[in-house]
Amino acid sequence: MTISEQLFRRAEAVIPGGVNSPVRAFGSVGLTPRMIASADGAHMTDEDGREYLDFVGSWGPMILGHNHPTVREAVIRACENGLSYGAATKREVEMAELICGSVPNVDMIRMVNSGTEAVMSAIRAARGYTGRDRIIKFAGCYHGHADALLVQAGSGVMTAGIPDSAGVPEGCAKDTLSAVYNDEMSVQRLFDAFPKEIAAVIVEPVGANMGVVPPQKGFLEALRRICTKYGSVLIFDEVITGFRLAFGGAQAYFGIDADLITYGKIIGAGMPVGAYGGKREIMECVAPKGPVYQAGTLSGNPVAMAAGLAQLTLLKENPELYTDLNRTGAWFFGELGKIAEQSGFPAAVNSCGSLGCVFFTDTDVVNYETAKTSDTEQYAAYFRYMLDHGIYLAPAQFEAMFLSAAHTEEDLRTALDLIGDYFRRD
Ligand SMILES: *Cc1c(COP(=O)(O)O)cnc(C)c1O
Repeated sequence: MTISEQLFRRAEAVIPGGVNSPVRAFGSVGLTPRMIASADGAHMTDEDGREYLDFVGSWGPMILGHNHPTVREAVIRACENGLSYGAATKREVEMAELICGSVPNVDMIRMVNSGTEAVMSAIRAARGYTGRDRIIKFAGCYHGHADALLVQAGSGVMTAGIPDSAGVPEGCAKDTLSAVYNDEMSVQRLFDAFPKEIAAVIVEPVGANMGVVPPQKGFLEALRRICTKYGSVLIFDEVITGFRLAFGGAQAYFGIDADLITYGKIIGAGMPVGAYGGKREIMECVAPKGPVYQAGTLSGNPVAMAAGLAQLTLLKENPELYTDLNRTGAWFFGELGKIAEQSGFPAAVNSCGSLGCVFFTDTDVVNYETAKTSDTEQYAAYFRYMLDHGIYLAPAQFEAMFLSAAHTEEDLRTALDLIGDYFRRD
């Protein structure tokens, strides 16, 4: 038994499923997790000393690669001054100013500790601001594990949400309406039914939790138009896309204004951080300025802020990083698409900037229904082949591949060659 396997045995006895987040389990690919011991740049090493080229990047935060010296040194320096004070600090001000000064429509921002918390709080703020209860989310978009967001698509668009997890009371899901990604009419129909009851529409501006599903031309524009017309808050969940597609996130990349924006992942550079921000009149509803309560003992933690501030400052000062990363993404996922096509393998490659994924289907993937046509057994076989050859992909079909500034052309060519070998193997 490998050291990873031994550790996983021990983990299973004391941690549900042996992991602290279900996406880390290797169940859907028929393996047990590799226990990671260290990571540097685009590479990770497990407890058995096996090395991997990593395409998960901690699910997004590692846009500069793992263990970036600038971030690491900022964290070490911050640690020397104590880990937490539960009091206001200068770094929180600098963090808020950096973001408000460079991201569209973020007049004010509140730091929290995870993406889940950011989304949960943004929805509360939108409800407090509008005095309405209902929200619209899109099937296949993930917004963290708050009760109201663990909702399946109803059988018809008029149905209220059905809990997608045990332990979520029906009452918590009843105000969550489910629409179809890339289908503006599915949203319009919900507003026709409840014109004055919808507090917010929340969307991943690039779907990145059902595999990668970019918005079709006009979709985000339509959401903006509809929200403005009905006085609803448009929430862009930019926990993945924020500071990734561009420093200004999807808003800047697509040129669409949101009212509230949620962040996580990159904003903490690997520390547990989230944030929500947006238009001043909405954010001023948040306590202690306004009546919408939201708090956090460790929010704006000095060490976490040091990590996030170091990464964001570096990204802001080097805008060519985005040009390069997006160009690399276009090239890499373009090549991947060509390989799939030439091999005749039933695979569809979707991408947007440095995010992409391979769906094992010959259907165009534009929403959750079409994403689900993927052959997940095929994905599992592909995953195992790649892992055997030192490439660490997400251990589930419906996740993204994340490129970072640390992936070299040589790394990416190695990955393309292996994927090509796999596609041509059958
Ligand atoms: C990861 C993610 C979240 C949840 O963030 P956590 O930090 O895991 O709580 C929310 N929204 C999106 C789009 C995400 O990708």
